[in-house]
Amino acid sequence: MLLKTLLNRVHPVKGFIYGKIKLVEDVLVPNGMRLEVQLRSRAGSRGICSGCGKAGGTYDHLPSRGFDFVPLWGIAVMLVYALWRIDCRACGVKVERVPWCDPGSKSPMTTALMVFLARWARLLSWWQVATMFAVSWESVYRAVEHVVAYGLKHRDLSGIGAIGVDEVAHAKGHKYLTLVYQLDGPCRRLLHISRGRSVKGLLGFFCMLKRAGIDYAKTIQFVCSDMWKAYLKVIAKKLPEALHILDRFHIVANLSKALDQVRAEEARKLSRQGWDVLKRSRWLLLRRRKRLNGRQRFKLRQILQWDLRTVRAYILVESLQALWEYRSPKHAGQFLDAWCRQVMRSRLEPLKKVAKSLRKHRELILNWYRAKKLYNCGIVEGLNLQVKLRFRKAFGFRTFPALEVALYHQLGHLPEPELAHKFC
Ligand SMILES: [Zn+2]
Repeated sequence: MLLKTLLNRVHPVKGFIYGKIKLVEDVLVPNGMRLEVQLRSRAGSRGICSGCGKAGGTYDHLPSRGFDFVPLWGIAVMLVYALWRIDCRACGVKVERVPWCDPGSKSPMTTALMVFLARWARLLSWWQVATMFAVSWESVYRAVEHVVAYGLKHRDLSGIGAIGVDEVAHAKGHKYLTLVYQLDGPCRRLLHISRGRSVKGLLGFFCMLKRAGIDYAKTIQFVCSDMWKAYLKVIAKKLPEALHILDRFHIVANLSKALDQVRAEEARKLSRQGWDVLKRSRWLLLRRRKRLNGRQRFKLRQILQWDLRTVRAYILVESLQALWEYRSPKHAGQFLDAWCRQVMRSRLEPLKKVAKSLRKHRELILNWYRAKKLYNCGIVEGLNLQVKLRFRKAFGFRTFPALEVALYHQLGHLPEPELAHKFC
């Protein structure tokens, strides 16, 4: 069988013919050789203008140019073609459009190669992909960027019923990203990324939906978020009808933080007095009791015997766990009120601060029961965890655009450019 037959099968190009194929020695590519595949346009077919997409008269040829294609058996493959310049009535003299790469693209990569590299880039770090296929990091980035741009343009944004809004720190020094996810049943994907945690960033998400012709106020019924003011403000304004749920994860996280503050202060005070009962107690107190082993439980019980501020705080925090067992928002509300009253009398300032914010956002917390616990933001945290893993795995995402591209690529479930053949 001829290579040409194979090429026609895996990568047919309408209006063009595969010509001569030769093996060229090239020290710059892996294994020292490269397959060069000549392409020419079918006789009588007219060139397509890259400006308007209409057929036009040919003007002249540009010199032959190489387009990198998917490697075969570790051998680099290059399509070689001399582009026509088209004398277009509407656009003037323009370069012709060819089906193996993007209209007007100056990239030396074919679409097939870009999709190929981008698929690998979902599994490996970009550096690993670059090394494996002997291309530059920049090429992998361009490939992923191209596939993501296509995906964002062609994705379907209809039928979004539930969203989660969350922030994630992406660099040292409190640099945040605001992420919006779709949380409809199995359809969980990243919808939008913006820099910082501002009103403007989140508004960008709604602008995007509006541009896509989505009537979000009608379709989005559930929103999960934390208590960040800017988010609350935008959600109240843009989705007044939606059920806004403050999620359990953030409440528990805030309480743990408050408990830890009480513990740290007291531990310092006690150790100054020469008593180290709270030494190395941090994880004993912060971890759920179920997850402690025998020895740790024993040590925890010993601590709990003492009349300490930390112990009182611990017991209060533990007792709030019962809140999540309720079924009706009314009873949960009564429990929450009673709990807050108790905390407010406790003279434990960090906890009082949390209780105050819980009181303030009482209705949003109870919406969790009204949503029948369906849209618990644990889902959001799960997605955020993936984002953080991506940060760690990805070397060289120092710029925001690269980071953005990587996250959409990984978590956006975006459609890919269609190819006749799956190369990987
Ligand atoms: Zn044109």
